[in-house]
Amino acid sequence: MSDRKYSIRDILSMDACTHCGLCAEVCPAVLASKDGKLSGVYRLDELRKVNRRRDGIWARLLRRKAIPPESLLPFSDTVFKCTLCGNCQEICPVGIHLKEIWLSLREDLVDSSAYPKKIDMIRENLAGSHNVFDEDNEERAEWVEDMDDPPDHGFIKDKAEVVYFTGCVAAYFPMAQQIPKALAQIFQAADVDFTLLGEEEWCCGFPLLGAGLKGEAQKIIDHNIEAIRRKGAKTIVFACPSCYQMWMEHYPHEFEMIHASQYLHRLIKENKIPLKERNITVTYHDPCDLGRGARVFDEPREVIRSIPGVTLVELEHNRENARCCGGGGNLEMFDAALSGEIARQKIEAVLNTGADAVITACQQCVRTMNTYVRRNKVPLKVLDITEFVKESLADS
Ligand code: SF4
Ligand code: SF4
Repeated sequence: MSDRKYSIRDILSMDACTHCGLCAEVCPAVLASKDGKLSGVYRLDELRKVNRRRDGIWARLLRRKAIPPESLLPFSDTVFKCTLCGNCQEICPVGIHLKEIWLSLREDLVDSSAYPKKIDMIRENLAGSHNVFDEDNEERAEWVEDMDDPPDHGFIKDKAEVVYFTGCVAAYFPMAQQIPKALAQIFQAADVDFTLLGEEEWCCGFPLLGAGLKGEAQKIIDHNIEAIRRKGAKTIVFACPSCYQMWMEHYPHEFEMIHASQYLHRLIKENKIPLKERNITVTYHDPCDLGRGARVFDEPREVIRSIPGVTLVELEHNRENARCCGGGGNLEMFDAALSGEIARQKIEAVLNTGADAVITACQQCVRTMNTYVRRNKVPLKVLDITEFVKESLADS
């Protein structure tokens, strides 16, 4: 491959692998495909072999040329069939930072021209239209017009205490637009002084990480930071865990950054959200980027439990051991069938709890699970936590 993208820690830790195989046992891609080549242990072995071909003593003595991209493509195919869920890293007994290595590996393969061509589309869409769907960015807040009684300002104010950063999926994808509508209604009920950025919101840049294009995110980061500064805001609220994680890890920490589930928890504790009695049993799916990624496990559960009459039952694999829904790592783009099979297994696990509904806290999880449920007419409600709280507002 063409470049060194790995930290010293990554390189040293690769040799620590004991081949215990635990990472394969929890990998949603392996469980859904039954293909061991999608496992962390296989991928690490291959990466070591590639690095030896590139940098080993024989490679240097024989002055070998760079590895041709065509010969890397079969390996690359396995690398991009990963949801970046981080379950392998969580379980690895010797503490190898596998998710970090998978991200560096994607960058390495892109630099080596051995990557799925759909990555070019992500790069072009973000550079051209500033959103992953290549939609008109002026339409980012069009969902507001579908609300029952939107204010004249359409939730886009010159100044506000709080900015709600919607993210591309919730802004454009009809199934996910219920999330920003719900959060806006809750904010109105709780009297939160908030604004949207409208067309000044650009994709946070997270899809670039999964596409191995991290180096191209800086222009986006600079733009979004400046847009928030102009609003004079103190706090940014994210309903999308990927946006939240991107901001927490790659943006300067100039403002309070908080996930919507945590913000709802705060508002409920301050008695700002009037809730009515429900009679429903639900389970909670931990989104990978919010749970394992940002270690937010308790607040969403406390929000659910604070709604009177709601019974919360846990999935067999929950919190740090939660299984991915199939929506991460841009997998849907590279292998929609594999993503769908992972979603099928997730829904099966949800049905085993006996819950009437699965609540999550991520627009992409809602989209992935709902797509499976609707296509297969499964009698199950899939809701984001914002939608569930909105349904539970006292006057709704
Ligand atoms: S990040 Fe998730 S999908 Fe990727 S190899 Fe690890 S467990 Fe499998
Ligand atoms: S869990 Fe860690 S040590 Fe075990 S096979 Fe996977 S990478 Fe190697």
